[in-house]
Amino acid sequence: MSGKVAVIGAGIGGLAAALALLRRGIDVDVYEQARELKEVGAGVQISSNGTRVLDALGLEDALARVQVVSSKREIRHWRTGETWNWFELGEKSAQRYGTRHMMLHRGDLHGILADAVCSLKSDAIHLGQRCVAVAQTGGQVEARFETGEIATAAFLIGADGIHSQVREGLFGADRPEFTGCVAWRGLVPMERLAPSISRAVGTNWLGPNGHVLHYPVRRGELMNFISFIERDDWQVESWTVEGTTDELANDFRGWHPDVQTLIQNVDAPFKWALMVRRPMDGWTKGRITLLGDACHPTLPFLGQGAVMAIEDAYVVAACLQKYFHDPASAFTRYEGIRRERTAAVVRKSHENRKQAFSPALADENEVAASVARDWQRLRVAERLDWLYTYDATALTI
Ligand SMILES: Cc1cc2nc3c(=O)[nH]c(=O)nc-3n(C[C@H](O)[C@H](O)[C@H](O)COP(=O)(O)OP(=O)(O)OC[C@H]3O[C@@H](n4cnc5c(N)ncnc54)[C@H](O)[C@@H]3O)c2cc1C
Repeated sequence: MSGKVAVIGAGIGGLAAALALLRRGIDVDVYEQARELKEVGAGVQISSNGTRVLDALGLEDALARVQVVSSKREIRHWRTGETWNWFELGEKSAQRYGTRHMMLHRGDLHGILADAVCSLKSDAIHLGQRCVAVAQTGGQVEARFETGEIATAAFLIGADGIHSQVREGLFGADRPEFTGCVAWRGLVPMERLAPSISRAVGTNWLGPNGHVLHYPVRRGELMNFISFIERDDWQVESWTVEGTTDELANDFRGWHPDVQTLIQNVDAPFKWALMVRRPMDGWTKGRITLLGDACHPTLPFLGQGAVMAIEDAYVVAACLQKYFHDPASAFTRYEGIRRERTAAVVRKSHENRKQAFSPALADENEVAASVARDWQRLRVAERLDWLYTYDATALTI
């Protein structure tokens, strides 16, 4: 196949796309603004629909060396610590959805993807290349970089994340709205935690105006901590702004001692203001398209942002293979397959946020009633089956 694909951004989505393309025999170059290839220290859950794609890309063995497949999810009461079984993961989930639900360190997943890309094309990833503009003329696309260099290709995929330069160049600036909610994230070395917390289960703590979530990553050596709190004094949307332990502790004053232990042992607490955006009407122009957070950034209340980027990556590669010589169809078909599903994830993540922050949870006696009403098994199945059963590797392209 003649002609290359240029991918802007070597995040989880961009690397997954590069890998999917190379495995189909399509040449690709990836341009990343960072000078060093690395990911932030945080966890990421990859549900069965994402695992299915990563396995199809040949990563099953590499993932097995770092993943945690926990047996279940639990819910706990923010003050008393009372615990409810929420839903089964592990074997039961693998049987129901066909593949496992993994908990990973983002750096581990990112490293596995980068190694796999480089094993197929050792010089595929170009670092220190911040894309500042894209253009297309006739049969080719052009990406311009801050360095002054220009790359040409037959197609271009903007996988440059939530503040996508490619999206802005094609469709103008977006207008995110602040949700009134701030997320904290960090990692805790497992040996600092008592056995009551360091178990291989995922845990969601329900409380008034806040939500805490933790799960083990990297073979169980680290506990990933994420919390959400309603407050309106911080509106910076960035993965790399560090806060302080005192500020984090202050947001969760009065919560159970297990939550306090986690907070006190988070190595470096990072904070992120959660913004919401409407699903885009379209994200393709001719030979240029977008994937992942660049075109459908979502709130993290379904744990699907990275998973959607991985599904996109598989589908865009399949469409390019089929329609490489029919540029008008290649990305239109990809977008047509992906738009409604990703828009549904954006909408449902927004709805889940309301449930996680139900004001009723301020009443201690309401927590058990809320668990019985809103978090019961049937509701979980309704909420997750359509997501987890989707098979991006078996679509008719
Ligand atoms: C608190 C929190 C928890 C989350 N938990 C989960 C979870 O459990 N499961 C899940 O599936 N998702 C989760 N997500 C969402 C997930 O992190 C994102 O959806 C995912 O990282 C998107 O991947 P991406 O490749 O599209 O973008 P990114 O990961 O943002 O990668 C974009 C890449 O492009 C590069 N780049 C940017 N601009 C340029 C440019 N101009 N030129 C060149 N390179 C550029 C960046 O440096 C970066 O490497 C969570 C998000 C949050 C906030």
